Amino acid sequence: EFQDVKTDTIENVRVFIRVRPLRDEEKTVINKEVIQTDSNVINLTKQGVVKSFKFTKIFDSDSSQIELYSHVAVPIVERVLQGYNGTVFAYGQSGTGKTYTMIGDVGDADRQGIIPNIFSHIFAQITLADQDNSYAVTVTYLEIYNEEIRDLLSDAPDKKLTLREKPGLGVYITELLGFAVDSLEAVTEILVKGNKRRTTSSTKLNDVSSRSHAIFTVSVETKNKLTNKTTFGKLNLVDLAGSERASKSQATGDRLREAGKINLSLSVLGNVISALVDGKATHIPYRNSKLTRLLQDSLGGNSLTALIATISPRYHDYEESVYTLMYADRVK
Ligand code: ADP
Ligand code: MG
Repeated sequence: EFQDVKTDTIENVRVFIRVRPLRDEEKTVINKEVIQTDSNVINLTKQGVVKSFKFTKIFDSDSSQIELYSHVAVPIVERVLQGYNGTVFAYGQSGTGKTYTMIGDVGDADRQGIIPNIFSHIFAQITLADQDNSYAVTVTYLEIYNEEIRDLLSDAPDKKLTLREKPGLGVYITELLGFAVDSLEAVTEILVKGNKRRTTSSTKLNDVSSRSHAIFTVSVETKNKLTNKTTFGKLNLVDLAGSERASKSQATGDRLREAGKINLSLSVLGNVISALVDGKATHIPYRNSKLTRLLQDSLGGNSLTALIATISPRYHDYEESVYTLMYADRVK
């Protein structure tokens, strides 16, 4: 079922593109002409001018959730089960499929996204294949909104949490709740609860989910029954705030400040990833945003990172699509 992608041969940072399908009412001649793809080249056409980009792999509008999961997440999940850390980001304009890619339609085997597929995969692996080890799987779910951290699983979701750093312990968040899970059903319940919080918390406006980063983290502790040796791996699944530029929405006041913080954290993330890819950088600017500070121990080193940049095929979104591809191109 899951394709076997050899983990030891892949780069530590990989960048993918996913194009969402046109909805029925969007299937106009002009929309159909904007994007042409093959497996690793994407062309964007506007008024006869073609912009061309090359990536590890392009998932076109026909790509299935399981196909994307197999290519992007399986190598990372395998590594996490061996005790390493990993991170998968969904980056892109609002409405292009970030949440569909990360979560999708929970409870629908064909339309569920990376997070549910991870648990289908690891719980199957844990119970079927492995008699030598015992596993403990814990999840946390938080959001960063306006550079403030909130626990999406807490019963006091408006409370701001503090990021701390201690030698030996690294970066951690005080009071963040972790839940032990042992079935896909348990995870589903947690996801649904957290997603509801993401949109209805009292301080927030309607489409806040597009303006916050949501980080779902799976920690796996593996204990060898014979040797008692334990390993600890952590996988972060990050649904980033919408990357659309503020100028377009003519934001003012709070909205403009908010947009400034989103732009800043996305650009810091871009700087961190491209410094890691570059390999020669002496300084990685983790400390310049909450997001990168928090993920510091899962970016770089032995960690595997994937960034999925999602784009819309609409003519109207052409400029944003080009910006997204430029961002993805810069970090690859
Ligand atoms: P975002 O999180 O980037 O704002 P969503 O994930 O909410 O975007 O996607 C917007 C809409 O498009 C949703 O209705 C979603 O189900 C649909 N959609 C996005 N990507 C796909 C895809 N690859 N296949 C089918 N539907 C998709
Ligand atoms: Mg979303």
